[in-house]
Amino acid sequence: MIKVCKFGGTSMADGINMRRVANILQSDPARRYTVVSAPGKRFGGDTKITDLLYETHRELEEKGSLGEAFHKVSARFCRIVDELGLALDIEKILSDTAAEIERERREEFTASRGEYLAGIVMAALLGVPFIDAKDVIRFDENGRFDTLSYTLVREALKGKNRAVIAGFYGSDPHGKVRTFSRGGSDVSGAIVARAVGAGVYENWTDVSGFLACDPRIVPSPVGIGKLSYRELRELSYMGANVLHSESIFPVREADIPIHILNTFRPADEGTMILPTEKYLSNVKRLRTVTGIAGKKNFTVISIEKSLMNSEIGFTYKIMEVLFRHHISFEHLPSGIDTMSIVIDSEQLTHGVLEAVREDIVKAVTPDRTNVYSDVALIAVVGHGMAKSVGTSARLFSAIANAGVNVRMIDQGSSELNIIVGVDNCNYERTLRAVYEEFFKT
Ligand code: ASP
Repeated sequence: MIKVCKFGGTSMADGINMRRVANILQSDPARRYTVVSAPGKRFGGDTKITDLLYETHRELEEKGSLGEAFHKVSARFCRIVDELGLALDIEKILSDTAAEIERERREEFTASRGEYLAGIVMAALLGVPFIDAKDVIRFDENGRFDTLSYTLVREALKGKNRAVIAGFYGSDPHGKVRTFSRGGSDVSGAIVARAVGAGVYENWTDVSGFLACDPRIVPSPVGIGKLSYRELRELSYMGANVLHSESIFPVREADIPIHILNTFRPADEGTMILPTEKYLSNVKRLRTVTGIAGKKNFTVISIEKSLMNSEIGFTYKIMEVLFRHHISFEHLPSGIDTMSIVIDSEQLTHGVLEAVREDIVKAVTPDRTNVYSDVALIAVVGHGMAKSVGTSARLFSAIANAGVNVRMIDQGSSELNIIVGVDNCNYERTLRAVYEEFFKT
């Protein structure tokens, strides 16, 4: 079985950490292909290489030449090579890179150089070939990922027992370097895993996987050992961020599990994210709730009209208003004569809310509309909920016992999640109460 491993910025932050990475890779012959991020923060208040590179681009635009920021990038890489005692002519590589940055003068090119340099250093440390992502990861004319990349990656790795591939970037049909969005090395790792048909995609980071709740709100929540792709999607969408959200799709389509592991505690179990069918057949005893996540700052527009259920095109007219205003909605809980639209409040600033509400009134002449702002959503997620009787009773009694008024409820048709809306000010209290109910009893 081939394992593709991706190491994040903290794992690559300095020479000592890179050595940890090398030890992890060398301890398992199945760990053949490695995707790396650019060095991240070494301590609180430090700056990530990628941020220094964006700064490099700004300086180049302003002053016409490279300045302080690139100097800092160079110093970090020289120090890393020194710490590792590598016989690598890093000065020459850095001066070639500087010349290329000046020639290209494109932000995405400059930003990509952190992964490029980190990849060269890691390959030298391991004594394996370096693969420039420019040659194997492709974007189309519109900057969207091109599946031709799978073939290119496979061909480049053919006959290579091990290799290091730079994360975060690729190139367009004209050979110009393009990057994914921030954190995009996760996506590069998933693409490589899919391309080589890996048995598992190991994503090495600085936490031991997903926790059942946000540790900033619930002290020391339990870890989630196994998670299905669908649960992951629900939890990450609601704010549980360990992985880049797009990174799931390449491996999910190919049924490849993702294992989240901690470079600094490699013996920890981590979180194994499994294709949903495999998860359901593998997990012996499903927990009722797998995890709880949430986000603040939503607005609920509630619309009431008698007999709205029999009015043809009612929802269509409302959707048309949202479409015209370029607004996406999160949920649409509805009753027989009521409908609520839940929207991320950020989309409704600068008078947009008032305009949307007015247009809805014009479009469907409701009996009443109400707006609740400052709503927080809490998602209680788990395949086990469908199988256990009384889950909602437990959930809502826990919330009621905490003295919190529920503003909105939405249950996905798959019974995989229940979304509860509460006032922003009750968010933390509700999370704690729900966690207590499902994880402490
Ligand atoms: N270095 C890039 C960033 O900081 C990509 C990554 O680390 O995944 O966003």
